[in-house]
Parts: sequence; structure tokens; C-alpha cells
Amino acid sequence: MSSVVAENLPDAHGHFGQFGGRYVPETLMNPLQELEEEYFRAQHDPEFQRELNYYLKEFCGRPTPLYFAERLTKELGGAKIYLKREDLLHTGAHKINNAMGQILLAKRMGKTRIIAETGAGQHGVATATVSAMFGMKCVIYMGAVDCERQILNVYRMKMLGAEVVPVHAGQKTLKEAVNEAMRDWVTNIRSTHYILGTAYGAHPYPVMVRNFQRVIGDEARAQILEKEKRLPDLLLACVGGGSNAIGLFYPFLEDAGVKMVGVEAGGEGIFPERHAARFQGGSLGVLQGTRSYILQDEFGQIQSTHSVSAGLDYAAVGPEHAFLRDASRVEYTYATDEKALAAFMKLARLEGIIPALESAHAVAECMVRSPKLGKDKLIIVNLSGRGDKDVAQVADKVKLEMPR
Ligand SMILES: *Cc1c(COP(=O)(O)O)cnc(C)c1O
Repeated sequence: MSSVVAENLPDAHGHFGQFGGRYVPETLMNPLQELEEEYFRAQHDPEFQRELNYYLKEFCGRPTPLYFAERLTKELGGAKIYLKREDLLHTGAHKINNAMGQILLAKRMGKTRIIAETGAGQHGVATATVSAMFGMKCVIYMGAVDCERQILNVYRMKMLGAEVVPVHAGQKTLKEAVNEAMRDWVTNIRSTHYILGTAYGAHPYPVMVRNFQRVIGDEARAQILEKEKRLPDLLLACVGGGSNAIGLFYPFLEDAGVKMVGVEAGGEGIFPERHAARFQGGSLGVLQGTRSYILQDEFGQIQSTHSVSAGLDYAAVGPEHAFLRDASRVEYTYATDEKALAAFMKLARLEGIIPALESAHAVAECMVRSPKLGKDKLIIVNLSGRGDKDVAQVADKVKLEMPR
């Protein structure tokens, strides 16, 4: 099973088993095909890889440390916990790995204008950053509700010269922002590249974004082998669209002894419209270009979602995760808002690291699993981002939920 998982997918049409593919209006078929061809050419072009690696190192700050969380390990009394410090990257999250890859691709394709959607604003900031760097015009679509709860990132994008367009349709969050970005792309296809921010959407986005993010797992693998002379027992990552998780997991898929758990947003619990855990309440469907697990009602209408963390608050999950779930290679669980907030505070107090609320979901699961594993076991938690963007929101909440 495992060699099938890692080596051969997706197929030539972007399918991961029954998931993935390309479900878009006719006008987007050609542009996606062009993007696919250009991406695979670039992937095998040593000059492109050299340029990408140069900027990842010199501008973004790679490699990121694999940090032994000594006090968290002691407190939980179980497995040894390492944190993959994507929070230390320039702009504060793993999103820049992908944004950098895609803007170099856009440059190769002769595009002059960049658009993107953003939820928590981290992808918008990463995209605005690389656009400023390469002198490209940049427009970011963001749900009006997300603009409000992530105002710091709105200011950052504007300072970087991007135009931020608040989207007032529907639930005013990430899904609506993606719709607007796709609408823009159809209209401005000649000049514009759409930097999609996660391992989601029509082929080739899921495979392309995964490949730009696998640097996380490639580094973590080499680092743990150097520090511990062996592979880890457990990998943990939060799952929004799924890019930081697949980035960490992918290089370990062939290693049968490495268990992997993706953590979705449990919100206020698994009740309709109160969470964003697609593998808990979701079913097979098509949304925004791909086939995957989706939170929808009996008529196929997309359900509202909720999470304390804007970056996990999305009704669908990346198709490769759907495949890995059905193949039983990766296990998926969820952490509630309350557990994520408690983990957020715990990591800050014990390790001096304020994590993004998204990443705090993975830390929460670590707090459940570590005590159940022996002291000889190794866990790697992907710390996908830092929590600066979340401090106002958390300060508001912890009055009630401060752990003692
Ligand atoms: C966007 C974001 C996520 C969720 O996106 P994935 O594609 O699932 O990784 C997780 N953590 C942080 C810090 C983010 O900014």
C-alpha cells in the first residue's frame, strides 16, 4: 500500500484514487493545463530549483530548526516532543514556501499580476510579500469576517502594497474569498497568476503545493535522523486545506513505522455548522475545482463552518488527505476551540513560543497522545505558524478559559 501512496499519485489527470481532478468552468481548462505543463517543466529544471532554494534560504530563513521541547515533554511525562519551527519563517508561517515557489513560476510564465485568497491572512501576507519582492501587482481576496478578526494581517498586506478586497458574500470567510479569486482569474487570465494557498483546488494545485511544502518533511526527516539516529514514531499537524500537514507527512509516507495524525478544527464540537472537521461530518463532493470530503447538507449545499482559527475554517479538505484517510495511511482527528486555546497558552508558558491558533490544534493533540506513549518514543509536531496575529483574539477569550 505505502509505495502506491507516495510514488504514483496523483495520476496524469490529478486524481488521488477517487479524489482530486479538475472540476472548473471551460474557460479555466486551458490556463490550468498551461500551468500544469509549466510547473512540471520547472520542477525538473535545475535552474528553477536552484533559484527557489536560494530564496528559501536567503529570504525566507530555511532550514527551520527542529526544536526539542524539553519542558513540554517533561510536563506531559511521555514521548519526546520535537517542534518543526515553521513559525520562524519570514512572515510567520509555512505559507511562504508555496508563495515563493509559485511566484517564481509566475515570473517564468511572464505574468505581471498576482491574485490570491486568504483566510487567516497568512497566505495573503506571504503572497503580498513575494509580490513586493518581484515587483508584481497584487490583489488579495479576503472574507469580510476574516478581515475583521485578522486585522493585523490586513494592515501588513496593505503596507506591502497589495490591494485587499473584502468579500461580503455568503459566510464572508475563506470559501467566498476563493470564489472571488476564481472569478478574477477567469477575467484576467492573460496577465494574472492565481497563487492558491493550500493543497487544494483543481489539478495541478494540490500536487504543486504539496511539492512546494514537502521541504518541511524533507528537512524534518534529515534533522531527526541526525539528532536521534532514527525516524520518529508520530507526526502531528493541523489540517485546514492540508498544505502544512502534507508537507510534513509526504516524505515519510513510505516509512511504515511512522504514524501520522492530521488534526482538524473541532470548533464547538461536532454539531452541524459548529466545526470544520470534514472527516467527522463530511461526505464526498465537489467544491472549488476538486473532489474530496466536504461539509454539505443533504442537498449538496455547502454548510457553514466554525473555528476559532480562521486558517482551519473551511468546508473542504485537500484531496490527497481524503485519499490517505481512505487508505488508512493517515489518521484524522480534531481539536475543539477550547482545547486549542488551552494548548496555545500551554506552549507559550512552558516553551516561550506563542503558536498560531491553527498550530495550537496540533499541539492540543500532542498533549493527548504524548502521555500515552513511552518515554522512548519520538513525536514531531509541525508548528505551522506563530501566534502574533492571534494575540488580540486570544486575550479576549482566555479570561474565561485560562488554564490553571
Ligand atoms: C493557513 C494556515 C494553516 C492551514 O492551512 P494548511 O494548508 O492546512 O496548512 C495552518 N497553520 C497556519 C499557521 C496557517 O497560516
